[in-house]
Amino acid sequence: SMNYDHAFHAGNFADVLKHACLCLCLVHLRQKDKPFVVFDTHAGQGRFDLAGPQAQKTQEAARGIVRLLTRPGPRPDALIPYVDAVRALGWVNGALRAYPGSPLLAHHLMRPRDRLVVAELHPVHVRALGALLGGRAQTRVEARDGYSVLKALLPPTERRGLVLIDPPFERRDEFTALARALRESLKRWASGTYLVWYPIKDEAAVAAFLASVAEEAPCPGLVARLQVRPATAGSGLAGTGLLVLNPPFALSEALPSLLPWLAETLGEAGQGTWHLSDLGRP
Ligand code: SAM
Repeated sequence: SMNYDHAFHAGNFADVLKHACLCLCLVHLRQKDKPFVVFDTHAGQGRFDLAGPQAQKTQEAARGIVRLLTRPGPRPDALIPYVDAVRALGWVNGALRAYPGSPLLAHHLMRPRDRLVVAELHPVHVRALGALLGGRAQTRVEARDGYSVLKALLPPTERRGLVLIDPPFERRDEFTALARALRESLKRWASGTYLVWYPIKDEAAVAAFLASVAEEAPCPGLVARLQVRPATAGSGLAGTGLLVLNPPFALSEALPSLLPWLAETLGEAGQGTWHLSDLGRP
């Protein structure tokens, strides 16, 4: 289905966690001279207008990135790459006007020799991505299924890099498709870093997904979780998860202090909670 529009959710608490971790991983990859590659399998439109009708309707960015940027007092150092990138890409005349999506954040933090491959199915978003990234030599926009792009392009010649898998979870079997994609991708490229986003709506489905990955993954993994209020039926997304396979040390080191700060900052009425564990050890 092509109904999902990330413009309603851009810059919300789930994006903050996902994109802060993405930026930390990219900064880590930049520490070596050798080129790296980034695959963004579900890229979205790349940039989101925070004055647009979708953002105005939900106010999710206001309770997410904007709350983070306007909280007084010190911020964890681990947020510096993310906050700097968001400001560089979206700050105009004293306010955050636009929120950068994952392909734009990646593009911002990569060097000319690094390679970016983004996949997106929605034709309007594909055009937007072409306009934003089309001028960059080392970037490819693939107008096809993100999982099939991994199948076709792994392992990459660079051998260093990252895969972001951020599906819309509109299909009922998304967790199954994700687990299969990870299994097949790890066979081709066991040393890549995989950043996998999922919503926490159905605890049993999340637990089954993590158990199936843990059983087959030949590599270390981290499971991070952020909840902004207790989950109640019909009230919108309250919790988000991030699975990171082969996490860079900078990320493993940062999450134990980053998660509580995010839970405190983005939790609604003091109800934020977080959890961090190693994959396979809940
Ligand atoms: N990763 C983006 C970011 O962080 O800014 C947000 C992506 S949004 C959660 C998911 C996107 O996946 C939507 O734009 C949707 O059109 C796209 N999509 C849906 N099915 C897809 C598929 N099979 N392959 C690639 N993209 C898909």
